[in-house]
Amino acid sequence: MGAELHVVLFPFLAQGHMIPALDIARLLAARNVKATIITTPVYASMFTKAIETGRKVGNSYIDLEIFSFPAKEAEIAVKQPGENQLFFLANQLLQEQLEQYLDRVRPDCLVADMFFPWATESSAKFNVPRLVFHGTSYFSLCTQEVVQVYKPYENVSSDDETFSLPLIPHEIKLTRSQMPADLMGDKDNPRQNRMEMIKKSELESYGVIVNSFYELEPDYAEFYRKELGRKAWHVGPVSLCNRSVEEKAQRGKKASIDEHNCLNWLNSKSPASVVYICFGSSAPSFAPQLHEIATALENSGKNFIWVVRNGDDKGKNDDEWLPSGFEQRTEGRGLIIRGWAPQVLILEHAALGAFVTHCGWNSTLEGISAGMPMVTWPMFAEQFYNEKLVTDILKIGVSVGVKKWNGKPSVEELISREVIEAALREITEGDAAEEMRQRAKQLKDKAWKAVAEGGSSYSDLSALIDELRSYHTR
Ligand code: UDP
Repeated sequence: MGAELHVVLFPFLAQGHMIPALDIARLLAARNVKATIITTPVYASMFTKAIETGRKVGNSYIDLEIFSFPAKEAEIAVKQPGENQLFFLANQLLQEQLEQYLDRVRPDCLVADMFFPWATESSAKFNVPRLVFHGTSYFSLCTQEVVQVYKPYENVSSDDETFSLPLIPHEIKLTRSQMPADLMGDKDNPRQNRMEMIKKSELESYGVIVNSFYELEPDYAEFYRKELGRKAWHVGPVSLCNRSVEEKAQRGKKASIDEHNCLNWLNSKSPASVVYICFGSSAPSFAPQLHEIATALENSGKNFIWVVRNGDDKGKNDDEWLPSGFEQRTEGRGLIIRGWAPQVLILEHAALGAFVTHCGWNSTLEGISAGMPMVTWPMFAEQFYNEKLVTDILKIGVSVGVKKWNGKPSVEELISREVIEAALREITEGDAAEEMRQRAKQLKDKAWKAVAEGGSSYSDLSALIDELRSYHTR
């Protein structure tokens, strides 16, 4: 056997990118590939616990490499996170450290996030193949590119008139309001420039690693490769590599509820009776919208776990977003987690019946892997595309009807309590709900098969590892 294969992962500094990167590191380690994750001091703690847990079960293949992050830029980034120009500029400061690291260590492969487009050039300097990780579905990779290239939104005369996406295998309709505002704007705006840079670096890279599985979106796995000409390997759902309660509870930040208390609460509920509501790691908490959700939950009479992120955007005190007496009235059937939930642990519990999601890809795929029908509530990024995959193609979800792509919610765009309650009923009651549940269950079974030995994702990872092993000998 040749020298040990060493793959370096360099995720973007956001939970939705770091969590799947750690899972990919785990998958590689399970195949005796050494994996190093690059991060910064602020985020290191997110990985250390999980790496220690791996060591306890004899897995010593994952390491952490900590780059420094200049304090001034870090401060800016923390104050203005998300898709913010300064944040991206701050990230660029990591390029020099990356090049020094690659020069010193000479790994066999660099898996760098899409948001580090300069990583392709950096790794080429040291003849290290660079893979891109976007952290989204094949479907949204395909649709985003089709929209970027063919600009179908130019064929309609108003923001709420629907247009169809050209070329792709299904009839998918969207509106201009559901696209990022600056997509249609000036060609030289920062977002457009960034998207162009990302695409160029992807085309020049060695290939793309996708957190999905073939049987979920076969048409788009093919379209991405054959029509869009990308070299891609799918290795997901990567979250399925977390098997113990400890592993599932340790994804991302420290959970704000003890996992055993959470499991005990779920154990007391009948099968498929609990609705889980969580909008990921970065969606804003808007007090008037939280109020509508609370009222819908109360009026629906359903069991629920509702994750409300900490942060001042919803107001400092509960009475700014929660109807007075809400928790007393819903005691026993409702649980609010303020902060961070052990999401995978919750989704996989037999008491779970439906998932209200913002359609971030990790959450969507975790929902699919747990066989969950979903209420889709996209907000920004590529979430509107993921919604279409769930509702129109997989047919395992109902849309709450968000009309506008918006990082900052407003009173005008509120989803009312009546609409939310109707969606909760539609996803849990009646024959149509039962059909969605059955389809979701079938997808769950396929997801598990895909990652099991011999399955499509297992085999694609094998193919990738084999190709990397032979890279330097070719
Ligand atoms: N997550 C979690 N607990 C929370 C919120 C989020 O474990 O309270 C995890 C979730 O399981 C997923 C990730 O954080 O793996 C969020 O990624 P996603 O792509 O869904 O959304 P983003 O946060 O990037 O918008």
